[in-house]
Amino acid sequence: MVPQYSLVVPIKDEEATILELYRRLSAVMDGMDGNVELILVNDGSRDRSLHLMRELQQKDRRVCYVSLARNFGHQIAVTAGLNFVRGQVVVVMDADLQDPPELIPDMVEKWRQGYQVVYAQRTKRHKETWFKRFMAYAFYRLLQRLADVEIPTDTGDFCLLDRRVVDVLNSMPERNRFIRGLRSWVGFRQTALLFERDPRFAGEVKYTFRKSWALGINSLISFSKVPLRISTYVGLVAAMISVLMAILVLYWRLFAPGAPLTGYAAIIVAVFFLGAVQLVSIGILGEYVGRIYEEVKGRPLYTLAEVAGFEEQNER
Ligand code: UDP
Ligand code: MG
Repeated sequence: MVPQYSLVVPIKDEEATILELYRRLSAVMDGMDGNVELILVNDGSRDRSLHLMRELQQKDRRVCYVSLARNFGHQIAVTAGLNFVRGQVVVVMDADLQDPPELIPDMVEKWRQGYQVVYAQRTKRHKETWFKRFMAYAFYRLLQRLADVEIPTDTGDFCLLDRRVVDVLNSMPERNRFIRGLRSWVGFRQTALLFERDPRFAGEVKYTFRKSWALGINSLISFSKVPLRISTYVGLVAAMISVLMAILVLYWRLFAPGAPLTGYAAIIVAVFFLGAVQLVSIGILGEYVGRIYEEVKGRPLYTLAEVAGFEEQNER
């Protein structure tokens, strides 16, 4: 029988959390009113995660797994999982139990009320550093101002998606995938479910500062053309300043010979200022051009090493 619910969980080096995750998830799955498949996506783990997944899959037929051939990153891992789902209702969540599985029935309830996207929205983050909280706070507000679509603040990838939404996401070929943004872009009826984000159950945070930063830049660039406009505006302002300066210099020349600001220092400052503006503009342009290059190459989003569990459920 075809499953009604699909749970997608990306996993990178989570040997310390997988069993606890499975324990809590299976309690939730047992209580659900339809067939459930649990799709674990191994994103190039170097620990025993894949081994544990194989064991779980042997033990419990509801478990399937997809193993990517190397680490492709969280967003691509989720994408791979979404490519394999068969249910009508799909839930995406992290493996580290920061997204409480017990919330799933509430999400399904909202789906029943007619929402196609139910995203979990954090009201509190437990045990995260003030720096991370500050960065997240600032980032989501900036993104909201700049992005073309309304991306709700303080949401992660923990969400419920209706089959129709998943089909749209799967038909999107782009490789710079900021799933939270794409999810908003799709439209349909969306609603939030408030929750307090728990601390990580065990193991290391996989999103290092560098990765979070890259994800942030990516999302801004994928969902906004405002940065491209910045250089235009700065250029216009610089042009106006230079006209003013020219008038001033002319004035001094004619009426106040011997005034300051006509010498060497002024030139150096102006040259550096314009040089900086140009370099930054080229940099911003480069971010966009680089992404065009990435997209144009049209490589597959990921490579698969191993897939298991999808045949059995079909037979049942
Ligand atoms: N993850 C992944 N690939 C990566 C990094 C992370 O699949 O390259 C998974 C990880 O195993 C976890 C989820 O993505 O299930 C979120 O990672 P993490 O908890 O480290 O991030 P944070 O909670 O800080 O957003
Ligand atoms: Mg986490």
